[in-house]
Amino acid sequence: MISKMQRYFKEMNINILWYRDNITSELSLSSLNINEVKDSVNNCTKCNLHKTRNNTVFGDGEVESDIMIIGEAPGKDEDEHGKPFIGRAGKLLNQFLKSINLNRESVFITNTIKCRPPENRNPSVEEIVSCSEFLDQQIKIIKPKVLVLLGKVAANRFLEDDKPMSELRQKKFFINKIDIPIIVFYHPAYILRSPLMKFSVWEDLKYLNSILQEHVS
Ligand code: URA
Repeated sequence: MISKMQRYFKEMNINILWYRDNITSELSLSSLNINEVKDSVNNCTKCNLHKTRNNTVFGDGEVESDIMIIGEAPGKDEDEHGKPFIGRAGKLLNQFLKSINLNRESVFITNTIKCRPPENRNPSVEEIVSCSEFLDQQIKIIKPKVLVLLGKVAANRFLEDDKPMSELRQKKFFINKIDIPIIVFYHPAYILRSPLMKFSVWEDLKYLNSILQEHVS
């Protein structure tokens, strides 16, 4: 069955294979360092979001971390300060991490795209594709032992099928040539809107712990 993401790609005449190959080939070719990638992000004008952004939001945290957390896109606070996850969703994310004895500074946190979409709308496929090389390079340089994707936008960017969150959580995925387990969490902004789902976060965190035990020596 063709996914929504694949349909968008088709409508925009973007070859899905090119997109996915691009993700993986970058991973084996890049020899950049993190500051060079940051400079490229700061100077990026590949999509229209550069016209409305106040700041790019590259990501922050421990560049040598075993854990890389990938959200959706910067919101208003993040755009204002140039840092990811510093608004309400970010505060909740910090609490989640604390509950399994991780502090924010010990992981690397970034987003699928590095500039804020106006009115916090979902990123378009064009924006995700424009930003894909930066995220690929970050993964290549940081070499995490696990990728944690927050919500559907990040999940769709990496995983082929547009599956509901209920089918993505509590599973480990591997994609072509990236030998890093990928897991999917509910996005903290969703948990803020649906506080009854808070208990599921505990399941997500326990699952992350089990993946860390398995994959981090
Ligand atoms: N939501 C995200 O996905 N990323 C942020 O940086 C903030 C909110």
